[in-house]
Amino acid sequence: MKPANHVMASLGTTVFEVMSRLAAEHGAINLGQGFPDQDGPASVRRVGAEALMAGPNQYPPMAGLAELRQALARHAQRFYGLAYDWQSEIVVTSGATEALACCFMALLEEGDEAVLLEPLYDSYPPMVARAGGRARYVALDAEDGWALPLGRLEAAFGPRTKLIVLNTPMNPAAKVFRRDELEAIARLAIAHDAVCVCDEVYEHLVFDGLEHHPIASLPGMRERTLRIGSAGKIFSLTGWKVGWIEGPAELMASVARTHQFITFTTPPALQLAVGRGLDGEDDHVRALAGTMQAKRDRLSQGLARAGFGVLPARGTYFVAADIRPLGFTGSDEDFCRATTLQAGVTGVPMSAFFRDSKVDHLVRFCFTKKDSTLDEASRRLATFTATLAP
Ligand code: PMP
Ligand code: GLN
Repeated sequence: MKPANHVMASLGTTVFEVMSRLAAEHGAINLGQGFPDQDGPASVRRVGAEALMAGPNQYPPMAGLAELRQALARHAQRFYGLAYDWQSEIVVTSGATEALACCFMALLEEGDEAVLLEPLYDSYPPMVARAGGRARYVALDAEDGWALPLGRLEAAFGPRTKLIVLNTPMNPAAKVFRRDELEAIARLAIAHDAVCVCDEVYEHLVFDGLEHHPIASLPGMRERTLRIGSAGKIFSLTGWKVGWIEGPAELMASVARTHQFITFTTPPALQLAVGRGLDGEDDHVRALAGTMQAKRDRLSQGLARAGFGVLPARGTYFVAADIRPLGFTGSDEDFCRATTLQAGVTGVPMSAFFRDSKVDHLVRFCFTKKDSTLDEASRRLATFTATLAP
């Protein structure tokens, strides 16, 4: 049977798949796809392992194990003063990726518009499109410190706007939205009666003494915000794919409808372990940003020594590096291919995170790796960049 060509075209192949495959083929250090190379707390993994053996390993409740939903409600209250009813306002999903798909499918009707801020996590555009929505892109500019362009944001809102996706801390810009920027987004969402789908998977990965503010905590926003999180990032267990959505009961009822037909549920042992982790591992959660900030500094210094223009990284797993000072003649994609083949280090071209704007001079590197790996990657990149003529 013939494949549906429009599906193939609109979905494409994710840059993470492409770059990880290339890295593996060439035995390169993979600083492309975002994942830590050390698993999170043994205590959390042990709960999962024991629950797996003790069982039951059958379908848990569709909205998630009560233990995890209750722990999530406590977590939102403890860290942000946000009150969610665990029974009607929280749904556990198979990762934040599923959570995003659920939100788009629940909210978008054919022709509805979704405001998306570039650079963006690459699953947003294809999933918005497959849900029948039309994306309105607003690009943030690295030269402008990734500031939110208020005029263009306002222009992107209109009578068909159904939702805006806000990702803070933002992958791949490593930006943490300021309070006044959140207020501007809130003002527009309220004025246009739009929903804010807020991807907060990096909520505990904020550096330099900055704070993460969920937009749901702003006046008038709780009732129109779907707050998405992921245990993958909080506990350095990205392969577990335990995510969640928190939001007002009315919106969550629609979201739960879509979740029941996408995955229905998520492995119970992993849910239990994440619930226990959220309740018992605040020390880990609070220490995480410090550990990752030191890694950010280590890789940023290595990249600077190799001649890159290194952009500030205020949160997430990633730092962006400008290749223009290196004298490389080619695009960011060419550069990532060249470093994989010739230096044995793989990054991700930032152009993959833009749909509307052409930005091809930045490379995203993931710093959540062992110090020895970061040092070796920096050394290899410096050897490579020394062969280029600036
Ligand atoms: N949103 C953002 C911004 C991400 O970077 C990622 C991937 N790390 C996800 C969502 C997906 O998270 P998960 O692995 O829980 O599906
Ligand atoms: N979120 C991770 C990143 O940005 C990758 C997730 C994936 O591979 N789909 O690197």
